[in-house]
Amino acid sequence: MITEEELDELIICKKCHTLHKKVPLSKRKKAFCSKCDTLLYQDNSNMIDTTLALVIAAAISLFIAFKFTIVTIDIKGLEKSLTIYALFMVILEQHQYIVGVMFIFLIFIFPITIILSMLILLILMKLKKGGYLVQRLLILLAHIRPWSMVDIFFISLLVAMVKLFDYAYIELGVSFIALIFTLILDIIITKNISFYELWDLHTKIYGRVDE
Ligand SMILES: [Zn+2]
Repeated sequence: MITEEELDELIICKKCHTLHKKVPLSKRKKAFCSKCDTLLYQDNSNMIDTTLALVIAAAISLFIAFKFTIVTIDIKGLEKSLTIYALFMVILEQHQYIVGVMFIFLIFIFPITIILSMLILLILMKLKKGGYLVQRLLILLAHIRPWSMVDIFFISLLVAMVKLFDYAYIELGVSFIALIFTLILDIIITKNISFYELWDLHTKIYGRVDE
């Protein structure tokens, strides 16, 4: 019988399914398949610090997005600057409830939940505390991550704007740029972390969790 600990030391190549024994890697080194040269795993000792820095940047960027003007509209010579919140109220006033619901989920609930969970998760992992909470947050993130699809986020924003302002002159504000910046950071964060490696780190920091 092979034990779970022994199983953890083995890794299978995603491409050619060759079984390899894992060896500890030095900083920034990667392990490749000896048969087909596919990346097997990489040193993840910097992953928490790098991701934490990116998540903090994303949090600041999202804060700016919520605080400042997203669009300035000109209706019959009257200029009106709207924040995301004011834009949301306009969407409701126009009875665009479906757009409103999408707006709430894609611009408020998902980004805030993801960024806050990541922030708490990474800080706890860095402090090597709260193993149970970290485990719950990892599961939560694995569930909601696929929903924070960048393209839907963006398309819904554009749809909302076109629907509202097809009659008016629009100028995009600081908040819009901050939102785009948050999206770019989100793409980089997603590229930078792998949940497989986070679980691996979780096991290294807190030990094996028996469920
Ligand atoms: Zn291979």
